[in-house]
Amino acid sequence: MSATATTERVFNFSAGPAVLPVSVLQEVQDELLCLPGAGASVMELSHRGKVFIEIMEQAEASIRSLLGISDQYAVLFLQGGAALQFSMIPANLLRDSGKSAQYLLTGAWGKKAIGEAKKEGTVDTIYSAAESNFDRVPTSSDYQVKDDAAYLYYCSNETIQGVQFQSEPACPDNVPLISDASSDFLSRPLDIDKYGLIYACAQKNAGPAGVTVVIIRRDLLAKGCDKLPGYLLYRNHAENESMWNTPPTFPIYVLGKVAKWLTNDIGGLAAMESQNREKAKLLYDVIDKHAGFYLGHAQVDCRSTMNATFNLPSEDLLASFVAEASKNGLQNLKGHRSVGGIRASVYNAMPREGAQALASFMDDFAKKNG
Ligand SMILES: *Cc1c(COP(=O)(O)O)cnc(C)c1O
Repeated sequence: MSATATTERVFNFSAGPAVLPVSVLQEVQDELLCLPGAGASVMELSHRGKVFIEIMEQAEASIRSLLGISDQYAVLFLQGGAALQFSMIPANLLRDSGKSAQYLLTGAWGKKAIGEAKKEGTVDTIYSAAESNFDRVPTSSDYQVKDDAAYLYYCSNETIQGVQFQSEPACPDNVPLISDASSDFLSRPLDIDKYGLIYACAQKNAGPAGVTVVIIRRDLLAKGCDKLPGYLLYRNHAENESMWNTPPTFPIYVLGKVAKWLTNDIGGLAAMESQNREKAKLLYDVIDKHAGFYLGHAQVDCRSTMNATFNLPSEDLLASFVAEASKNGLQNLKGHRSVGGIRASVYNAMPREGAQALASFMDDFAKKNG
């Protein structure tokens, strides 16, 4: 690691695109002009050539191994971000099904997903946390899923509000469970067998913008109608190993490196989860210590390990918090424009020192201004 690279980099709390592991960025830098053995940059290689196919197979194998994904599932690398999944899911699984899709609404991304799904068919919002300003997720007694629903959809971590499901919501066995895991993908182990489909855009926790990972149970591939635009049909991508058209080669290459980093440097998702819990705890402990000063947004048992959201007593204090933090190398802490306040995103690649530095800054700031 070169000294200049580390002294010039700030602690970047951006919600996305977000921090990546320094070692991954350095490997990318080392290989950018000439990928060893390829004689060219990875960006200049045919997606159908041996070198790139191996890169993509490796990326898929690492993700399969990290999450323990069985052959019953296809792993797809798509474009269009998480937003296109808001439409692809109901286009394939709801349109003309005669069924209704059931949504648990716990924040801004769920709301957008519902808006898109309504264009495709009947949507029931069977739980909404809108009344409490999206500060919580439901327990199983808060909602009822229809036995013949097309699917049950939820967002495991609402990035803007900073509320996270601690485990999968209850769902009848015959109803496919679908999750938008964009902002907590690869942050903890999951039991993939519980899902019909789970997806994540890469730019929050898994890589650069441009690729979205979709993990879909193979029986669901039969459902989409051939009249859909070809790109929107999951089975086209599955049948062609994500090469129905040119896949986003560079983002897939970086994603593969992040997955390798998780495996080799971190030691897998259980180890990653415990690091993430420690980092988040550093922040929430200061929020609780100065509870009259910092106003945490999420209910305690729904707090996100990825995005800590809180407010300050006044807009003036909020502005000086952001400005002083930035001077201290703690950047991109402003909350989403729709909710205000502060949002500190401490994804996988945020080092513990970054969370520690922010926690110390918060403690000092509260003592000075509280
Ligand atoms: C960022 C985000 C999205 C939107 O992702 P795009 O790639 O911009 O479409 C959707 N869901 C969640 C949970 C997100 O964090």
